Amino acid sequence: MTAQIISGTEIAKQIREELKQEIAELRQKHNLVPGLATVLVGDDPASQVYVGSKAKTCKALGIYSERHDLSAETDEPTLLALIDRLNKDPKIHGILVQLPLPKHINETNVLLAIDPKKDVDGFHPVNVGKLMIGEPDYLPCTPHGIQELLIRSGVKISGAEVVIVGRSNIVGKPLANMLLQKKAGANATVTVCHTGTSDIAFHTRRADIIIVALGKPKFITADMVKEGAVVIDVGVNRIGKTAEGKAILCGDVDFDAVKEKVKAITPVPGGVGPMTIVMLMLNTLKAAKMAAGLAQEEVKYGI
Ligand code: NAP
Repeated sequence: MTAQIISGTEIAKQIREELKQEIAELRQKHNLVPGLATVLVGDDPASQVYVGSKAKTCKALGIYSERHDLSAETDEPTLLALIDRLNKDPKIHGILVQLPLPKHINETNVLLAIDPKKDVDGFHPVNVGKLMIGEPDYLPCTPHGIQELLIRSGVKISGAEVVIVGRSNIVGKPLANMLLQKKAGANATVTVCHTGTSDIAFHTRRADIIIVALGKPKFITADMVKEGAVVIDVGVNRIGKTAEGKAILCGDVDFDAVKEKVKAITPVPGGVGPMTIVMLMLNTLKAAKMAAGLAQEEVKYGI
C-alpha cells in the first residue's frame, strides 16, 4: 500500500493564505489589527526558536506582535505584573507565555493570570472547561492543528475508532475531548493510552486513526498498526546533529516501516509542527474579533 503523506507544511500554507486575506479585510473594513504578545522567560534555545518563528509568522500575516524576553532570574511577581499590563493593553488581543517556565515560577499561577479572553493557547481552566462542554472560544493550537489536518486530508473522523497515545494537558487530553464532541469533524470513539495502559498495542492495532504524542522516538512500530489506518505523529525528538550542526528530528512513529502499511501518515518534520503555529494565528484573529464585538463568521476551521 502506498500511503498518502499528509503534508502539514502544505495545509498550513493554505490556512496562512486564508488568514492573511481575512486579516487584511479586518484592517480595511474595521481598522482593526490583531495583536499578539509573546512572553519568554530564560534563554532555552528551543523556546527562543519557537518565539522567533511566531513573531515572523505574525509579521507575514499582518498581525501586530510584541516580544517580551525576560531573564531566567525574573521572579513571579514581575512576570504577573507584565501579564496584568498586557491584559489591560487594547492593542494586545492574545497573550502567549512560552512554556516551560523556570522552576522557581509557578506555571499554574501564570496561566490563571492571563485573561481567558486573551488566552490564545487555550490553557486557562475557563477555556479548558468551555472546550469540555463543547462551547470553546479557543481550541488549543496543536490539537486543533491535528483536527484540521485530518479534516483537510479527507479523513472521516465521525464514527472512527481513534486511539491517542499520550495524555498531556496540551495535546492528548484536549484532543480526546475535541474528537469526542457530537459535532462535524469529531464524533469519534476515543481511547487514550498512557504509562498506565497495560497493552498499548492492543488498542493501537484496532484503531482507524492513531495519534501519537509521547516524546519517544519510533515508539509506534509497524506491528502496532492495522492495515489502512491513518497515523498522526505529534512527537518531535532530537536524535542527533547533521555535519552542519542542525538538529536531526524524528517522530514517535517508525515512519519508514509504518508508511508501508497505512493509508495516510504525517511526516516529522513537516506534519503537525507547521499547523500549531497557524492555529495560534487563527486564535489571535478570533480574539481580536471578539474584543471588537464582531460576530464570528460561520466556523471554517473544525469545531
Ligand atoms: P508530555 O507532557 O511529556 O506527555 C507525554 C505523554 O506520553 C504522557 O501522557 C505520558 O504518560 C505518555 N508516555 C510517555 N512515555 C510513554 C510510554 N512509554 N508508554 C505510554 N505512554 C507514555 O508530552 P507532550 O507535551 O504531550 O509532547 C509529546 C510529544 O509531542 C513531544 O515529542 C513534543 O515535543 C511533541 N509536541 C509537538 C508539538 C508540535 O507542534 N509538533 C506540540 C506539542 C508537543 P503519563 O501521563 O502516564 O506520564
